[in-house]
Amino acid sequence: MKTVTLAKGDGIGPEIMEATVRIIEASGANVQFDEIKVGKKVYESGNTSGISSEAWESIRKHKVFLKAPITTPQGGGYKSLNVTMRKTLGLYANLRPCSSLHPYVRTKHPEMDVVIVRENEEDLYAGIEHQQTEDVVQCLKLITRPGSEKIIRYAFEYAKHNGRKKVTCFSKDNIMKQTDGLFHKIFDEVAAEYPEIENEHWIVDIGAAKLADTPEAFDVIVMQNLYGDILSDVAAQITGSVGMAGSSNVGESVAMFEAIHGSAPDISGKNIANPSGLLRGAILMLNHIGENKAAEKIHNAWLRTIEEGTHTPDIYKEGVSTKKVGTKEFADAVIANLGKSPEQLTAVVYNADKPFDLPKVKERPASKKELLGVDVFVDDKDKNPNNVAERLKSIESEGLKLQMITNRGVKVWPNGFDETYCTNHWRCRLLMPSEEVVDKKEIVNVLSNALANNVDVIKTENLYTFDGKKGFSLGQGQ
Ligand code: NAD
Repeated sequence: MKTVTLAKGDGIGPEIMEATVRIIEASGANVQFDEIKVGKKVYESGNTSGISSEAWESIRKHKVFLKAPITTPQGGGYKSLNVTMRKTLGLYANLRPCSSLHPYVRTKHPEMDVVIVRENEEDLYAGIEHQQTEDVVQCLKLITRPGSEKIIRYAFEYAKHNGRKKVTCFSKDNIMKQTDGLFHKIFDEVAAEYPEIENEHWIVDIGAAKLADTPEAFDVIVMQNLYGDILSDVAAQITGSVGMAGSSNVGESVAMFEAIHGSAPDISGKNIANPSGLLRGAILMLNHIGENKAAEKIHNAWLRTIEEGTHTPDIYKEGVSTKKVGTKEFADAVIANLGKSPEQLTAVVYNADKPFDLPKVKERPASKKELLGVDVFVDDKDKNPNNVAERLKSIESEGLKLQMITNRGVKVWPNGFDETYCTNHWRCRLLMPSEEVVDKKEIVNVLSNALANNVDVIKTENLYTFDGKKGFSLGQGQ
């Protein structure tokens, strides 16, 4: 008997978890639960992480975790437990299947059947943020080659093992040439290893518009963390209700399963929440632990229940639905349908295959890294770039000379425009005039000069080449 860690969560969490567990138990699945407490009560007891060490122990021991939504208290001092868990446990792949159940659940997209594969650990979710000047704050967007390679290969492996025909990548590499540029490049590299699967790339803005308008044009979509977070909610919502989608968060050793929606405090305790999202998460979990037949039985009973028109208020529609039910009664109806298949919707078949092996990152030869110069970020209240440039001349070293100043990424010196609005945050690029390789000591000299001349340096970024290719972007307008 497989033991799974379980948390009932906050808000509607306990109601939908009770419904889900009753269905799992009635299905005869070979599984038992070890309950832990996480979320609001733990935060309020003074534990700002929202999870105790005993709870961590259970998750790490059993390696499979079914979690109801939790409430993150608003305001400073509390980190999101969801983000903490995904990152601490290395749950890098977030899979969110979103398919419509037309005509039984109202949707403008009857043909929709999309799986979103969201990178779960990197991007702006690294949470590295700083206030640098009185007017400027910064959040670091971190994209790594291994992280991107793992998630993209995961998307192709998922497609291969689930009969999917196409993998699409969304990115914004026309603007973020380094971060999104790397993600797109790796997508092209990995796609070439799967010639049997169609691949395509969309710029995320028009891709998102197309997804919201014509979701049937997509099959599997792989995205970085932030785009995936936003667009998987859009995708779930346009299938009919955000209450219907489940998700898995998969890592090398642990996997966590949940609904994609939150704790819905507005409807908590009323027995009206739709337990389908968490139930779909539980179906993914049962497949993950090899309880495929129980997963199949529950999924088909659930489809049958939806098809019969037994609906919770969020999807209830006069003329289509036949019976408006509460959370408990919906679970009763699914239990009564265990063993039955849908008559109109397509029944699912889950075979006894183990989940596919997680993709490994390919070893690469080390590249040659050479230093060309430094970007020095300076806090200066002067609004005139020419004055700033004048002061910055004083920090030049023997080799490193001021080449360019940008403000919010736009080149303002030399030959800036009066029309460009400037804040007190200046990025000053120093390079050897001939763009030769420079010794790191030159950067120390630049910083010493800044100190001696009262130039307020708030941070530096070294300018490298990797195998002769520049690892930094140009200034806008350069
Ligand atoms: P939410 O998803 O909880 O609710 C959004 C809307 O959808 C509400 O009107 C709600 O009533 C409705 N809704 C959500 N789930 C439903 C269901 N199963 N059945 C019927 N209607 C449903 O989003 P929110 O209000 O922005 O967030 C509430 C809390 O949940 C916040 O504290 C947030 O941090 C947390 N949250 C947790 C998770 C998680 O644990 N994975 C995810 C998202 C949000």
